[in-house]
Amino acid sequence: MIEETSTQDIDRRIQMAAEAFQFLKNTTISERAEFMNAVADHIEALGEELLTVTHAETSLPLARLTGEKARTVGQWRSYAKAVAAGIYTEARIDLARPEKQKGDLRKYNVGIGPVVVFGASNFPYAFSTAGGDTASAIGAGCPVIIKAHPAHPQTSQIMADAITTVIKAFGWPEGIFSHITETSYEIGTYLTQHPDIRAVAFTGSFTGGKALFDIANRRKDPIPVFAEMGSINPVFAFQNLLETKAEALAKEYIGSLTLGVGQFCTNPGVFIALKGNPLDRFINALKEEIQEITPAKMLHEGIFESFEKNKSIAIEQPDVELIASVHTESTAGSAAAIKTRAKNFINNRVLSEEVFGPFGIVVEYETDEELMEIARQLKGQLTITIAATHEDVRDNGALITILKDKCGRLLFNGMPTGVEVVYGMQHGGPFPSTTDSRFTSVGPDAVKRFVRPICFQNWPDEFLPDELKNDNPLQISRMVDGIMNSESLKLQTT
Ligand code: NAP
Repeated sequence: MIEETSTQDIDRRIQMAAEAFQFLKNTTISERAEFMNAVADHIEALGEELLTVTHAETSLPLARLTGEKARTVGQWRSYAKAVAAGIYTEARIDLARPEKQKGDLRKYNVGIGPVVVFGASNFPYAFSTAGGDTASAIGAGCPVIIKAHPAHPQTSQIMADAITTVIKAFGWPEGIFSHITETSYEIGTYLTQHPDIRAVAFTGSFTGGKALFDIANRRKDPIPVFAEMGSINPVFAFQNLLETKAEALAKEYIGSLTLGVGQFCTNPGVFIALKGNPLDRFINALKEEIQEITPAKMLHEGIFESFEKNKSIAIEQPDVELIASVHTESTAGSAAAIKTRAKNFINNRVLSEEVFGPFGIVVEYETDEELMEIARQLKGQLTITIAATHEDVRDNGALITILKDKCGRLLFNGMPTGVEVVYGMQHGGPFPSTTDSRFTSVGPDAVKRFVRPICFQNWPDEFLPDELKNDNPLQISRMVDGIMNSESLKLQTT
């Protein structure tokens, strides 16, 4: 049960967000970009204290936090630049053609409305209170109600304060950003069901994301939920490459698998290769490499416990062989890897479940048919990696065709951890890796999730939004009669 005082407080904040939405609708893209750059400046200026607090709350190393903070600042700035350039405005103008009885049609994107963001535990800066979801929603012109992740409450408060300071400095309505610190599924449910909420962004477990997606779809007026959930990010390693670099590949793989104690959604949890000597060499090298990995504390007790539980479940499955496991008495996340045959992997769905942490499964296939069946049975993934030579790719065209349907990002060599914040990035994938494969939650294109198009038919120029006016006062790139340009239209105004 939620306390009545909590629901009253949430109702009040959402009411403020709904009012702030009316304000944001009238801001220009350059005003919103200016706001976003000011938030970036404030976060950048947060000093050692922030890092110390987050380190104490999450156990993440200071070097990693320093990098993540810079990434977060970069997100606000790059999304601001994209917003100011009008990229997500997507202005389309089809001029009237009276001789064909066709009217004037002009379309552009507007913010969808107040957005609830569920902060993630594994990225206390980049995917939490002042993270990419918040930046992209505000960039789209949507107020944000953040449901802070309970694993880093003080960090969340510092970030929330930075945004609130900027709101005050700009004299903008308070309701543009609200910070909800209470922890309970009922609060998350209440927020998602609230009639004034127009979208939800989430990063976390499949259970959490799917629960919120279902709640949103059961509403009288369903709303989109952009949930980024689990993924096992398979690596398909092919023979020519494996023969030449089995040992180097094992080092690369284990580095990615155990990076940040395996607490990345792009962690490569499954490695698939043909049975034989090159794979045996890979496994032997993996065995040695794993022993070198020092167990480290995980983000919070709950994540550690579910890691231990899910790792044990996988290890105890029939027809599974333990490759290596680092033993420790402490409550640190210790790496492990197992091996199984393709048939077992295909038939036992438990082995396709994400184990969030430093844990990998090597799948050994014996025939091309087994390999194809693995691909066909794969659920939607954030990433799939092809470890291959050019010749391997040429020899496996049919398989790669299937894999393209199964992921948001297909890598040719390298490892999937390390998600660049750029336009070309796709961080999302077919269900169940996300609830909407059409969008990314990393890179400026993340803004697209929170806009919707509106078309104006036959409106006089003076009443059109600046984005669609004849003289193009924002000087943005627009599609006019099918051709992109940034020019003003030399037309007679009506
Ligand atoms: P989580 O359990 O999914 O929780 C994330 C947020 O969603 C929390 O704020 C939580 O609420 C809320 N929530 C979860 N289930 C809900 C429900 N049924 N109804 C309403 N709200 C709900 O994620 P977590 O705590 O970060 O970690 C748990 C597991 O998530 C990990 O073991 C891992 O498997 C996975 N994970 C995946 C990723 C990824 O990138 N895909 C990232 C982090 C974690 P409360 O705050 O009230 O608890």
